Amino acid sequence: MKAHTRETQATMTPQKSLQFLKEGNVRFQNNLKANRNLLEQVNDTSEGQFPFATILSCIDSRVSAELVFDQGLGDIFSVRIAGNFVNEDILGSMEFACKLAGTKLIVVLGHTSCGAVKGACDDAKLGNLTSMLSKIKPAVEAVTEPADKSQRNSKNLEFVDNVAEKNVHIAIENIRMQSPILKEMEDNNEIDIVGAMYDINTGAVAFFE
Ligand SMILES: [Zn+2]
Repeated sequence: MKAHTRETQATMTPQKSLQFLKEGNVRFQNNLKANRNLLEQVNDTSEGQFPFATILSCIDSRVSAELVFDQGLGDIFSVRIAGNFVNEDILGSMEFACKLAGTKLIVVLGHTSCGAVKGACDDAKLGNLTSMLSKIKPAVEAVTEPADKSQRNSKNLEFVDNVAEKNVHIAIENIRMQSPILKEMEDNNEIDIVGAMYDINTGAVAFFE
């Protein structure tokens, strides 16, 4: 498989980009990596990059976007932060990736058993983590079940995963609300913004349709 070029990027649409990622994740789940020469891709991308998708995911060591979508060099912009939320800097990175560098799809990728989400559920406090986790708190509050306080912590994995999913939806809302540039691109069908959850037990990515 070759690195993307200006010509191949120009043939990409939001729908085709999503399809590429879905196919890549199926290859990953079946341990069927596409045949790529990464060193050759270093050379092929040395004069420019023409990626087709921008993926916001967690820093979790098990959720590398390039690996779980079986992508090579020059294929995707990978934005990573614990708990995959957005802030001004991340929105700026996404605006660069879509408006200036031509990607057609933004994926916000949450995952099961997320440590950052667990920390927010437990109201953990530690140094700079405290303010970082506060960015995930709105998702904790938005998940109303279970109401019993004793069940609303990281020991309840179902609750944790529901919060992680809500956190993806909130990130997408925030992208639309806080980035008029990306909202306009989406309204003009130049890009799609989609959410998904990665299952750390199976390697499968489930897109929200
Ligand atoms: Zn995580």
